[in-house]
Amino acid sequence: MNNFINLLYRHRYDIFFSILLFILIFAFFIIIPKEETKNIINITENKTFDIRQNIISKNKKANKDIVIVTVDDPSYEYLIDKYGDWPIPRSVYADLLNYIQAQNPKYVAFDLLFIKTLNRIPKSDEKFIKVFKKYNNTYTAINFDDYSFDLRMPPLIGKKLNSEINFDKSKIKPLKFTNCRMIIPELIEATDNIGHINTPKSDDGFIRTVPIIINYPKYQKNSTQEIEDNYYLYLTVKLAIDYLNKYENAGIKNLIIDKNNNLILGSRKIPLMNDAQTILNWYGDSGLIADTFKYVSFWQVLKSLEAKNKGEKELLPKDFFKDKIVYIGTNVFSLSDIKTVPTSKYLPGVEIHATLLNNILDNNLIHKASLKYNILISIILALSAAYTVFKIRSVSISVILFSCFIMLYLYFSIFVMEKFYVWIWVAIPVILAILIFIVAYIIKYFFKSRDFEYTYKLATTDGLTELYNHRFFQEQIRKNIIISDKTKIPFSLIIIDIDFFKKFNDKYGHQAGDAVLKHVARTLKSCVRNNDFVCRYGGEEMTILLNNTNHKDAVKIAEDICTSIASKKYALNPDLEVNITISLGVATYPDNGKTPSEIIEYADKCLYKAKENGRNQVGNL
Ligand code: GH3
Ligand code: MG
Ligand code: MG
Repeated sequence: MNNFINLLYRHRYDIFFSILLFILIFAFFIIIPKEETKNIINITENKTFDIRQNIISKNKKANKDIVIVTVDDPSYEYLIDKYGDWPIPRSVYADLLNYIQAQNPKYVAFDLLFIKTLNRIPKSDEKFIKVFKKYNNTYTAINFDDYSFDLRMPPLIGKKLNSEINFDKSKIKPLKFTNCRMIIPELIEATDNIGHINTPKSDDGFIRTVPIIINYPKYQKNSTQEIEDNYYLYLTVKLAIDYLNKYENAGIKNLIIDKNNNLILGSRKIPLMNDAQTILNWYGDSGLIADTFKYVSFWQVLKSLEAKNKGEKELLPKDFFKDKIVYIGTNVFSLSDIKTVPTSKYLPGVEIHATLLNNILDNNLIHKASLKYNILISIILALSAAYTVFKIRSVSISVILFSCFIMLYLYFSIFVMEKFYVWIWVAIPVILAILIFIVAYIIKYFFKSRDFEYTYKLATTDGLTELYNHRFFQEQIRKNIIISDKTKIPFSLIIIDIDFFKKFNDKYGHQAGDAVLKHVARTLKSCVRNNDFVCRYGGEEMTILLNNTNHKDAVKIAEDICTSIASKKYALNPDLEVNITISLGVATYPDNGKTPSEIIEYADKCLYKAKENGRNQVGNL
């Protein structure tokens, strides 16, 4: 038991620091739930994700079988020139689709909304739907929103577009939309290949995630009364399932989300967050870095089509679309399909589909590390911060080592994202580690300064009387001379010796003698100013250094001390009171001596005179 207490005592500082550290870590985690802190940390964490994505995207290779046809600015101008207004007649898409399909692509997906209310040329729409119907490898989009029921009642889409998905509804809650921009109903009748294309932005306007499943509840006819939840898949997920079934015999029939929140697609999986969104693993800046998706302008395809019809040489190489997965979308500011994503400020919205498909095929979608791993990592980093402070003496080495830990951690976070597609926290662990590092230094210096004070006191005080010791006195008298030389103001020294102290010891014992020494020391201190130094010179001799004091004043102070001691009876015990007297000698710098020993000698001589003249007085030469 005693050993255990000893052990605790020996490691009291380690124990104290560890407890403090844990309190700090937990305090930090308690602060986080507050909204503002959470937001700042979220934004910072998202930025670290963007940086990591930008670094690793340089080594990623986009799938060259994915081709993006964009209505870019030149195409837009060309189309407006030719057809007068946007949207263009849908027969143009019909011709375009026929042209592409003639080259046997694997899939064609329109990231365009063929909205019902923009259905201005019925013949043209009819033609498009007819052509669309011909190809079962062609997809199109629908879009959900939350517009007021006063604007439009939630349209009924019917059962055919939604998906049966088996998942734990208490764990995953897909984003819910209460309204929908209806596309041409005949198009819905014509195909099952319609998926949603909603991509909500983060707080900072960036798109980092894609909602794989959304919920657009079934409503009663002409009513806002919800009947049941109704789940829709993201356009590219529908396409990916068909792709995996057709080209890899994945045999995906029932959609299941496993207990780790992964939507299982044969050998591929889509890790889902609690809102059924997935985090994309982005490619480089589109168009600028060559190694992203293959792009072609809408006008180039149209020109090729015209040339083909005229029997002239086509602009695009022959079989350009053969075996490709073709996405068609816009890349025009005025059509507002430009997105900001971690690797690009201006990404054509359609590239989000290409990215998701590429991620699904490469099975490299990003998932967040679980809370317990993140907390573990934070604690390890915090402990390493504390370690560098408490175990390493040199400040510069501990700063360097700590910076190395942080750098290593940052590399590690990039490494696990690149190799394992895992997003581990960076903001919290690094902020926490820096806080711990700073706090640990404050604590360390607090204790160090206390240690220093304690050692200094030990080295300069006398244990019995708690007066300054002989060494301190010798140093201080030298300092006083230097100061006095500068200021030209004298200082004085009083030497004190207790009268007949040997006899006192013999009569009452050494313990009583010690008590008297303490009593005299206390009285001396009480008779002088705070900035004067009362020292034990040796044995029962004491000295006082009086700053800025001339000889006359010093003698006066000495006389007061002498009377003060003599007049007070000292109670050795409740029944015994004794009279103590002292003799004193005074010397003043520079008049009575130029060096410490000369001054001390002068004061000593005065003291001797006092003894000679009968004690209990201040001696004079
Ligand atoms: P005088 O009036 O001439 O000074 O007589 P004195 O007896 O005081 O003479 P002296 O200075 O020779 O004696 C000093 C005595 O002080 C000797 C020693 O027993 C006693 N003394 C010195 N240091 C201590 C101490 O720390 N504790 C106690 N109890 N006595 C001490
Ligand atoms: Mg003496
Ligand atoms: Mg004495």
